[in-house]
Amino acid sequence: MLSREQSQGVVPYEQCDPYAWFSQRAWVEIDLAALSDNVQQLLSKLSVGTQLMAVVKADAYGHGAVTVAQTAIAAGANWLGVATVPEGIQLREAGIKSPILVLGATYTPEQIHAIAHWNLQPTLCSPKQALVFADTLEDIHYTAPLSVHIKLDTGMSRLGTSWQQAAEFVQLVQRLPRLQIASVYSHLATADSEDQTIMRRQQQRFQEAIAQIASLGIEVPCLHLANSAATLSDENLHYDMVRAGLLVYGLYPANHLRSAIALKPVMQVKARVTQVKTIARGDGVSYGHQFIAPREMTIAVVGIGYADGVPRNLSQKMQVLIHGQFVPQIGTITMDQLMIDISTLPHVQEGDIVTILGQEGDKCISADDWAHQLKTISWEILCGFKHRLPRVAIM
Ligand SMILES: *Cc1c(COP(=O)(O)O)cnc(C)c1O
Repeated sequence: MLSREQSQGVVPYEQCDPYAWFSQRAWVEIDLAALSDNVQQLLSKLSVGTQLMAVVKADAYGHGAVTVAQTAIAAGANWLGVATVPEGIQLREAGIKSPILVLGATYTPEQIHAIAHWNLQPTLCSPKQALVFADTLEDIHYTAPLSVHIKLDTGMSRLGTSWQQAAEFVQLVQRLPRLQIASVYSHLATADSEDQTIMRRQQQRFQEAIAQIASLGIEVPCLHLANSAATLSDENLHYDMVRAGLLVYGLYPANHLRSAIALKPVMQVKARVTQVKTIARGDGVSYGHQFIAPREMTIAVVGIGYADGVPRNLSQKMQVLIHGQFVPQIGTITMDQLMIDISTLPHVQEGDIVTILGQEGDKCISADDWAHQLKTISWEILCGFKHRLPRVAIM
């Protein structure tokens, strides 16, 4: 039986043999050796003195934040990046001591209390927010300076103060008591594109902002700009730290960046056959009878569905691996189950393992395949496996 926390996917996965999980209809396997190797590969691409932030927001892109964070740190990552305060608290509650940057915006006194209490480091996006921080820290008699990170908008039009106001903003924060600037950073909008025009414009703006800040005589201890794609595309974008998410999980931000580094996907998704049956020619399969059997067929019901993270829009567009072979998924994917055509495989039985995402022998189904099919990105596919399935660590 799963505990309540495990069934919610909150607690780190069991460090056990996945094949002992007989009771499980479906699970996510997390290859910690691959994760560790990806981090080391990444570190080997960085200059001496450049730090690596492993971005573990959104429950480590569906891989399980605590175990991923522990593994990444053990492999040499210096920093952790999360999106929200609760994500940071989860890591601290698990005993993780590394510096944690909250990449998202935080404004409320409750969030600021929690940041101070849990020793998290906030992103400051605007002068207004900086003033709220200073006031709130005064209210709670916080004495040690809180390390804060200045976010500049250089062209993403998401969080941050315009690069043109960088100097005023940095100066304001520097003069506020209880705040200490730990870094200045920005985020790139098009680093995965082969056309570098916009990325270079953002880099140029970031450079201008840094020059303005330096001209005030203010020394910033750390500058950072690169996400995964920028980390691979040009080491001039690395500055003092890179913030890598996708690469840590073993996927590539774009095909043209594949040759830069050899990574291994960390996540595999497996499910079991829960029933095998023969259906007659003309029988409909699943809701809406989107599939009508063209002949007598053998099909298998598999215990995984859209509530687990298999997008319903993949219905009749995906394949799975079973007994080392690709077979097509048929009919509409339902909340907890889907059907596959196993007419070509005579020996499938209830309990057999189906690879939904991952590798069997020389055959592979990757998050990129799904993303391509759905006209989305692999990031979204990975994050889809965030909640429901238990995670099993493979060492
Ligand atoms: C999510 C995020 C990253 C990591 O992006 P990847 O493309 O997965 O490497 C880096 N920086 C910021 C600000 C982010 O929000």
